[in-house]
Amino acid sequence: MKIHEYQAKQVLRRYGAPVPDGAVCETAEEARDHAAGLGAPVVIKAQVHVGGRGKAGGVKVARTPDEAFEAASAILGMDIKGLTVRKVLVEPALDIREEYYLGVALDRASQRNTVIVSAAGGVDIEEVAEKTPEKIARLSVDPVIGFRPWHALDVAKRGGIPPAALPGAVDLLQKLMRAYLESDAVLAEVNPLALTGEGELVAADAKMVIDDNALFRQQDLAQLREDEGEDPIEAEARRRGIQYVRLDGDIGVIGNGAGLVMATIDEVRMAGGKAADFLDIGGGARAELVRNALEIVLMDPRVRCVFFNVFGGITRGDEVARGILAAREGLDVRVPMVIRLAGTEAEAGRRLLDGSGLIPAETMQEAAAKAVQLARA
Ligand code: GDP
Ligand code: MN
Repeated sequence: MKIHEYQAKQVLRRYGAPVPDGAVCETAEEARDHAAGLGAPVVIKAQVHVGGRGKAGGVKVARTPDEAFEAASAILGMDIKGLTVRKVLVEPALDIREEYYLGVALDRASQRNTVIVSAAGGVDIEEVAEKTPEKIARLSVDPVIGFRPWHALDVAKRGGIPPAALPGAVDLLQKLMRAYLESDAVLAEVNPLALTGEGELVAADAKMVIDDNALFRQQDLAQLREDEGEDPIEAEARRRGIQYVRLDGDIGVIGNGAGLVMATIDEVRMAGGKAADFLDIGGGARAELVRNALEIVLMDPRVRCVFFNVFGGITRGDEVARGILAAREGLDVRVPMVIRLAGTEAEAGRRLLDGSGLIPAETMQEAAAKAVQLARA
């Protein structure tokens, strides 16, 4: 889950990180009043859940309250990468001399947290990473040893942070790491960390992404969720407690167990088709659960065929079949449904489906081939 810059800055402030004092405004009048209150040049920044706001015109410096009004008017309502700006952050403008990049991210490949530092921060960091990767230093954190001050110093030096800024950067890196760990984040970054004309280091921008699976124990952060910009079907699935990810094909996939669902999506692909979603109904196949799952999948108008792939372990095949039949009763299902049942009582389940108009299959390959064929028909 992404949180806004101003929210990430509030988190970092609690850890003692140097962040500007800002105010969130929803109207240009508020932005003007706040700028007048500060009595200094301000920066007006779009608060949307995407990066690259600077390049999109979503960050503007204003020298007077009237300019702040103009800038906020221009930014509020602006569309940045498909998201509409509804809030701006108004902060005292910084006299930026240099821009550095500091970040902590979860590296799934090494299963470790990685600290990333570069003295070539700012809006072109992606280009730096692509063209001059040697300007970006990384440090993979050993989970037993943890991230120690000497690690911070080492990675900051390798990232090219100049000597005068090293103590501040090392200090901020440790605070960033603490905020990242204690927030169950998968990403925490400051870009740019600004070196100002007065020689101070200030986090001019902040970004945090929180692990969705940890939100149950991050109640304060969980409150910050905004559905805006989220896929409406995914949002509905989340409200119903269903694991659903929308994809761009036309075969609605429903299975039990994340591994099986992923394998099903691959199988559809190998049969020449494309899955419309990932949906894991988990253990059990009570009619209510199956019905909810079917309803979610059918909300996507692109779905031309549904492919149920259920492996009976503790859940018995006949229960699943009954669940699917009961679920179908209350719904207006207009697309064919292919059902592959395997495992405990699969045979009994298939017998129950006889004559129901649902298309049974014994293997995943057979089911995938049928689903692809039906979606094309
Ligand atoms: P992003 O483009 O979404 O990453 O948004 P940033 O917050 O990083 O802003 C983009 C750029 O705007 C920064 O790299 C700075 O160069 C500039 N910027 C941001 N805040 C200030 C500020 O307070 N003063 C000045 N002069 N420039 C700023
Ligand atoms: Mn930035």
